[in-house]
Amino acid sequence: MTGSSPSFRPMETVTLPRNMLTDALGRRISYLRISVTDRCDLRCRYCMAERMTFLPKDRVLTLEEIALLADLFIARGIRKIRLTGGEPLVRRDITDLARRIGRHLGDGLEELTLTTNGTRLAQHADDLYDAGIRRINVSLDSLDPDRFAHVTRNGDIRQVFEGLRAARSAGLAVKINMVALKGINEDEILPMIRWCDSQGFDLTLIETMPLGDTGEDRTDHYLPLTQVADMIRQHHPLTPVGHRTGGPARYHSVAGMNARLGLITPLTQNFCSDCNRMRITCEGKIFMCLGHDDHVDLKTAFRTGGLGAVEPLIDRALRLKPAKHDFQIGKGLQPAVRRHMSSTGG
Ligand code: SAM
Ligand code: SF4
Repeated sequence: MTGSSPSFRPMETVTLPRNMLTDALGRRISYLRISVTDRCDLRCRYCMAERMTFLPKDRVLTLEEIALLADLFIARGIRKIRLTGGEPLVRRDITDLARRIGRHLGDGLEELTLTTNGTRLAQHADDLYDAGIRRINVSLDSLDPDRFAHVTRNGDIRQVFEGLRAARSAGLAVKINMVALKGINEDEILPMIRWCDSQGFDLTLIETMPLGDTGEDRTDHYLPLTQVADMIRQHHPLTPVGHRTGGPARYHSVAGMNARLGLITPLTQNFCSDCNRMRITCEGKIFMCLGHDDHVDLKTAFRTGGLGAVEPLIDRALRLKPAKHDFQIGKGLQPAVRRHMSSTGG
């Protein structure tokens, strides 16, 4: 099942300023997600297989290469950057990278942010704040230690709680990301909203996307958020609000709570018509859509011809951006793409 077809504005025949990235369908691309590593200390069941083969170090961009590419993308019109992975905080030089990119804040770059599983947040929260990061997303699919260990294949929830405490005392605003999983955490969705509200966090629920082989059938645990929203409404009326954070989540206020509820619905409600995102992998490939294999490899051009050789490739990538993803989930259907979310960057 896929969502309803989005409608698109035709490309206007006007000359756009050079520092504006616009795709062939007229969508303004202002948000770059950088996957700084494909590695992770957890193995979430919906994301990775238990045994993963990661890239050798020499195929991964160096800190300096990522920082120079970020400089170029900001000069070309990117206004928001999210550092992600894999788990960005397993990369040793992550806070140096954040600091390097953070220099652009207020001078081209409007926001630098990060998505993390939280296990190493306690060690990094202050440095991330010093680098200019003010909001982070922390993934947490269960509040129950055993269930958390099950979903992450052996994660220790105490590290995440410690990380969340450190984030709060560093001054970072937190949004929790929870992938809604039938038969695994569906009974925890209401408790999670209430807990987030008590902690001063927002919550975003995400539909599981068919990306890469995990060794398990995602169909068994796919939970449409249309169904979840109906269930929540029986307890707390939801009101759509205009709040946007630049990503795909559609936000709702929750009656009786301060916490906002975001819904990311790639399967039940397609959001591609106003997609503003592009992604770079830690290997230096630009992907214009999570759900397609088309990409442009920047690394070879960069290592042989420098940033000048990269610039035309950005324009080529823009032309590759598809109208929409082709995610489908159902018994016997293969994942839309073989890459895991962790390699493209969530
Ligand atoms: N390791 C970090 C984390 O877990 O937050 C950052 C990378 S992770 C790939 C980014 C987000 O993608 C997380 O919120 C995770 O739950 C989500 N995610 C991973 N695989 C997914 C999938 N197949 N479908 C939906 N969300 C997924
Ligand atoms: Fe690691 Fe994040 Fe994927 Fe979980 S969702 S396995 S924490 S990259």
